[in-house]
Amino acid sequence: MVWDISVAYYGCQYPNHIEGDLKEISEAGFTSITLCINEREWPRLAKAKKFIVDRAHDLGLRVFIDVHGFGFFVPGHFSIAVPRNPEWCEVDNKGRIYPIRGCPNNPNYRKWLKERVREMVDRLKPDGVFWDEPSFIAPRDWPEAWTCRCPACRKAFREEYGYEMPNTLTRDIREFRQKSVFGFLDELTSEVRELDEGLLNILCLMPEHTGRHGIYSWDPVLKLKNLDVFSTDPYWIWSNRPFDWFVEWVKRAIGVSKKANLKSQIWVELIRIPRKRESDIRRSVIKAVELGADAIATWSFRAEEGSELSCEDPETAWKTMIEAIKEVRGIVPKRK
Ligand SMILES: [Zn+2]
Repeated sequence: MVWDISVAYYGCQYPNHIEGDLKEISEAGFTSITLCINEREWPRLAKAKKFIVDRAHDLGLRVFIDVHGFGFFVPGHFSIAVPRNPEWCEVDNKGRIYPIRGCPNNPNYRKWLKERVREMVDRLKPDGVFWDEPSFIAPRDWPEAWTCRCPACRKAFREEYGYEMPNTLTRDIREFRQKSVFGFLDELTSEVRELDEGLLNILCLMPEHTGRHGIYSWDPVLKLKNLDVFSTDPYWIWSNRPFDWFVEWVKRAIGVSKKANLKSQIWVELIRIPRKRESDIRRSVIKAVELGADAIATWSFRAEEGSELSCEDPETAWKTMIEAIKEVRGIVPKRK
């Protein structure tokens, strides 16, 4: 039995559009929305976000807030506060500053992000918080260049390891980077739990453990005491990989989740799907459920139509996703 089926929803500010979108999501068979809140929208669109949360609840949908941008997530999502406070920024070993990325070891950045999360939770009353691919930025010339070697990191490294932070990617540096990401995640997820015991913490980490983004293993997930759901997003169609690669990372995520006594969530891509490959959407959803995923999620609503990341034929892609969801929820009979 699948516990949850979520769709990423950016939302908009016009109530009558929101109502129609949420009705469509609910009728399609989704049981939650993963509501994106970008830093530039907060608190400017707080009223619209609250409207979305309330209407979604009226329709029986759960709402998980995706803290999007705010300096700690995938590159490309802009931050306003981080570049205004250059001392919060990640710095690579060549001394270059990354102005939209806050360093997880900077105490003032940590404080600021926790305050924003508190505001969102207090004002919106969601069902949980979705931590979307938290990571260090990977410089273009990775692995010669890596982050972070800002003053806060150098101080923390010296205190922990007893010597000056090296300039190369040594074993200690790799360990320190991973500890930095998970240390901050532990603090963030604990903060959410303290705000409301019923709130769920969902963590999505990218597949593969190359260390590009500071993550070399999923073992530290086992130590996150306030985590409820562990998630990954093996986007095999977009990244032009074989289906076996998707299967491998789904199995690994389910394995870690079981070991940690967490629910597992698998993201199936609904972006950049080439025309005529829509059947691979169904294939991914069905396989993830067969392998034992507790939850399925997809990025994003209506196949991201209108964006650069749109599926080539968004209408067909969206319809295919809905059919697959109805199938796994038992709303329509299982296809052979
Ligand atoms: Zn740093």
